[in-house]
Amino acid sequence: MIECRNLGKTYGTVEAVSDISLGIEEHEFLSILGPSGCGKSTLLRLIAGLEVPSKGQVFLHGEEISGKKIILPPERRKFGMIFQDFALFPHLSVKDNVAYGATGSKSEKQQRVKELLELVSLPHLAAKMPHQISGGEQQRIAVARALAPKPRLILMDEPFSNLDYQLRQQLRRDIREILKHEGVATVLVTHDQVEAITFSDRMLLMQQGMLVQEGTPADIYQHPQTIWASSFVGEANHLLVEWQSNSLKTPLGELNVPAEIGRNARILMVRPEDFILESAADGQSNGTVKTVDFSGSVQTVGVELKSGDSIQVSGSPHLLWNPEDTVKITAQRYLCFNSSGIRLNGFPE
Ligand code: ADP
Ligand code: MG
Repeated sequence: MIECRNLGKTYGTVEAVSDISLGIEEHEFLSILGPSGCGKSTLLRLIAGLEVPSKGQVFLHGEEISGKKIILPPERRKFGMIFQDFALFPHLSVKDNVAYGATGSKSEKQQRVKELLELVSLPHLAAKMPHQISGGEQQRIAVARALAPKPRLILMDEPFSNLDYQLRQQLRRDIREILKHEGVATVLVTHDQVEAITFSDRMLLMQQGMLVQEGTPADIYQHPQTIWASSFVGEANHLLVEWQSNSLKTPLGELNVPAEIGRNARILMVRPEDFILESAADGQSNGTVKTVDFSGSVQTVGVELKSGDSIQVSGSPHLLWNPEDTVKITAQRYLCFNSSGIRLNGFPE
């Protein structure tokens, strides 16, 4: 449906977006994840038609809509936008805020407002003013308002970041359901990896104005292409390794990897959930438990390896560890990276 080709945007000497090409399919849920300042909002504004690209083009169904100038103005693109600050009109009631974007006859508009308030489960707030409802409710109304004109695409810029943790999770699930129900394609930009991972079908990872990796959330989590990506999309342990006499020497012991990988491997990455921790007598152990963080459903154990490296292990809390327990620790899944931080292999299957 949408195609961005070699998009760039420069403000003075700042290259906010360098060279981005991407496509958005009908009905697709796409998230763009990257640290603050990497150009996410600028990219979204370029797609929306709120900024003129410094280079590149945006196409809608194969027709150019942004290039050297804005060809199709934002209000005619049928894109809905939802931002961090809920931006409801303060002087209009909930019902009138939603009706604002609706089209058609008076009765068609009324019907659409009713349908949307039911969809966001807030029909009882129709007559309230924005300041009389909570932040989470305001954001749901903002979603209803964005959906009123039946947009072809919803663009969301960090829409949940002003809400507290519990509410954010619930709202994320609800809004995902609502948008899926409407069947509208959605682009979510966020710096929050959990948000991107749980919300989208496909994820793009952005760093300094560029896209650096694309895939399903699970694929990017399990196969990050760089050390940077491995830490940005989740918790990662990094250990220095060395290839010696045909085997990979690691702080966890020797690992069996093919020579062509081992020879170039410098860093081993292991997710905290990919370790196996076993009780071991001092002679057989390769580490000592230093910290135990019990958080209900998960136990996070800090282990100091005999090499001096510290690692974080997470697992089920059924067998609780204690500081100074001696343990044998093995990695059941791991990735190797070269000295430039680029991945060399996938997990051994
Ligand atoms: P993100 O949304 O990922 O935090 P932004 O797209 O807001 O990143 O910004 C990317 C870079 O471009 C930042 O360095 C920011 O300061 C700069 N920038 C964004 N908008 C403008 C603007 N209107 N004028 C000047 N610099 C800008
Ligand atoms: Mg931003």
